[in-house]
Amino acid sequence: MALSHISHDGLGAACPAYALKALDVLESAGWEAWVVGGWVRDALRGLPGHDVDVTTSAPWQEVERAFAAAGFPVHETGTAHGTVTVVMDGKPVEVTTYRVEGTYSDLRHPDEVRFVRDVREDLARRDFTVNAMAWHPTRGLLDPFGGEGDLNLRVIRAVGVPRERFEEDALRVLRAVRFAARMGFSVEAATQEALVACAPELTYIAQERIGQELDGIVRCGKMGWALMNETDVMCAALPELQAMRGFDQHNPYHFYDVLEHTARVCMGVQEFTGGLARPELQWAAFLHDVAKPVCFSLDAEGGGHFFKHPVVGASMADRIMRRLAVRREVAVPARLLVRYHDHRVFATQRSVRRTMQKFSHECPGQETRLTYELLDLKRADAIGKSWRAYGFIQTLDQISALVREEVSRGPVFKESQLAVGGRDLMSEFGMRPGPGIGVFLDAMLVAVVDGVVPNEREALLAWLEEYSGMPRV
Ligand code: ATP
Ligand code: MG
Repeated sequence: MALSHISHDGLGAACPAYALKALDVLESAGWEAWVVGGWVRDALRGLPGHDVDVTTSAPWQEVERAFAAAGFPVHETGTAHGTVTVVMDGKPVEVTTYRVEGTYSDLRHPDEVRFVRDVREDLARRDFTVNAMAWHPTRGLLDPFGGEGDLNLRVIRAVGVPRERFEEDALRVLRAVRFAARMGFSVEAATQEALVACAPELTYIAQERIGQELDGIVRCGKMGWALMNETDVMCAALPELQAMRGFDQHNPYHFYDVLEHTARVCMGVQEFTGGLARPELQWAAFLHDVAKPVCFSLDAEGGGHFFKHPVVGASMADRIMRRLAVRREVAVPARLLVRYHDHRVFATQRSVRRTMQKFSHECPGQETRLTYELLDLKRADAIGKSWRAYGFIQTLDQISALVREEVSRGPVFKESQLAVGGRDLMSEFGMRPGPGIGVFLDAMLVAVVDGVVPNEREALLAWLEEYSGMPRV
């Protein structure tokens, strides 16, 4: 992997023209400016698609003045921290004045932000060596903490004394895990030791900041890795996980404790979707068994049960995702997948239609995608138990085939999809508009979903004639 890194000479070609122009605007006005942070890190890894952040010696008022004079729109997006966003050729570039952060007496917010003269001071306040590099088209790479070397070694290492840096801002503990997870890096030993020591301080961090980092781990498909490799940090970030850790399921179908099972299900949904699981499926995999510890009971034979854990889990997952400010368009379907992860689906047309019908009621228009996602969640759930559950995968494949058939035929799970409508009932049976029509349409839908009658006009009218005893006109 190290060989795929591009040299820093290659950064000039990789840097987008609008970003170079932003540097030029500032430097022509007499200030110093660098590209910094994520863009430099990712470009050195051969991934120059990251948005561009610029750091500069200019106070934000001067940044605003220089860009306005050059004719570019400027938005005051964070002037308290010295940040404005300039729009260059339609692309936003965040420009921040060189700064350091004062003491963090509450472990969350710096008590003050102090603007400084030297870019090196600005780099020193950044979290990890790979994030603390600056680059300029003629001055080259400025890398005072060995970030490039750490990219080659594939490690996340704190800038400075790890413990002090995590005590300043405990969110960095979770950021370390997110960067390691996303980039497939390991955490350098002293940094790792400090991560574990400082993880409890995540309690002081605002839930939405934690949510943002957890969402980052979930979305890159690495929650399974994080749960297995950074268990202490993850349990501190989401205290509900602590109860799942080491929780024996007392069940011959479960080889793993609830937390390890969860990690395997997170990995499984990635496997079964070729690494393309959508965020709602990944969040559902992460939280699907969150209620197991509170729903546990032992029977007389010593067997473990988790009655109602999908229902209780769905409301716990909902509360957790609200608290973490996970976007509703992700949280709503994720809650549903948690709710139905244990719902029995059979390899019959009826069962497939009923499942799609349930999803259609709760997330109209999303039923096909959610049904496939439910099947992927169930596959992952099965392989995350033990080899004894693997046989179920075959059934799930049969169910998938039925869903495909259903979708290609034009699925039937709501009245508007019936081959017969209210108008037909009026013309064929002389019915008058009113609630009676809805009653019969509903009866026909149940018959079609149950496979009693095919969804064809004539067959449906004949069935209704018999069912209702109404003669056709
Ligand atoms: P990405 O946005 O792809 O996750 P990034 O490197 O752009 O990666 P951001 O969270 O956008 O990460 O932050 C931009 C830069 O600001 C980081 O590269 C890092 O240098 C610095 N930074 C951000 N948050 C912190 C923090 N809590 N402590 C110290 N430095 C930070
Ligand atoms: Mg960023």
